[in-house]
Amino acid sequence: MESVEETAVALRLQGIRQKIAQAAVKAGRDPASARLLGVTKTVPPGRIRAAYDAGLRLFGENYVQEALAKIDLLPPDAQWHMIGHLQSNKARRAAELFSVVQTLDRPSLAEALQKAAAARGLTLPVLLEYNVGDEDTKAGASQEALLALARRAPEWPNLQIRGLMALPPYRDEPEEARPFLRAVRDFSLRIGELKIPGVEMAELSMGTSHDYAVAVEEGATIVRVGTALFGDRE
Ligand SMILES: *Cc1c(COP(=O)(O)O)cnc(C)c1O
Repeated sequence: MESVEETAVALRLQGIRQKIAQAAVKAGRDPASARLLGVTKTVPPGRIRAAYDAGLRLFGENYVQEALAKIDLLPPDAQWHMIGHLQSNKARRAAELFSVVQTLDRPSLAEALQKAAAARGLTLPVLLEYNVGDEDTKAGASQEALLALARRAPEWPNLQIRGLMALPPYRDEPEEARPFLRAVRDFSLRIGELKIPGVEMAELSMGTSHDYAVAVEEGATIVRVGTALFGDRE
């Protein structure tokens, strides 16, 4: 039998989908161009399964160690993205488990992922993690560092840089995130204009439970929602 919380996940999913669609339409975008990614860190298996059963297919996990059990929980048509800080010594495992690594922020990690992807004979899509608020407490890199990283893309033929991921500083009002979200989009356009081989800035992963509607208005193609979908974390 499903718990009350598991039933609630399906209802919340519907509500979030509606808000995403409304924000997309408001911005003159195709609602299908903004995808919902469910953030599963610390979420019990029943709730993850409930989201899948209600139609969600895109999931994100912060921890390599926690990912395997969760990935095994769902049928293979569920897609998993790595959204947490990735140590280079876990790159091989990450390339096995995830279809996209959203948190590339340094050359040493690019090298480790390149090796891992080449060993598996595949091309691994990655996003560059941008520390848009320049916060010491947050992962990701500065514009300068990411530009330097993007320019080196041809050195990593088994990686495909597909866009940016960012987590703007937390503000009480979602509207206050807008300038940061816009800055992420502008920076993505700037990298795209460089026309670097192996770099195609198609994805903007930004927006959480708090500000995903604003993020969609500002061009997010992936919003990463945890608590608003799965309920409070333990
Ligand atoms: C936890 C987390 C989220 C989701 O945050 P919520 O506030 O629970 O929606 C999104 N992105 C990253 C990188 C996270 O770690």
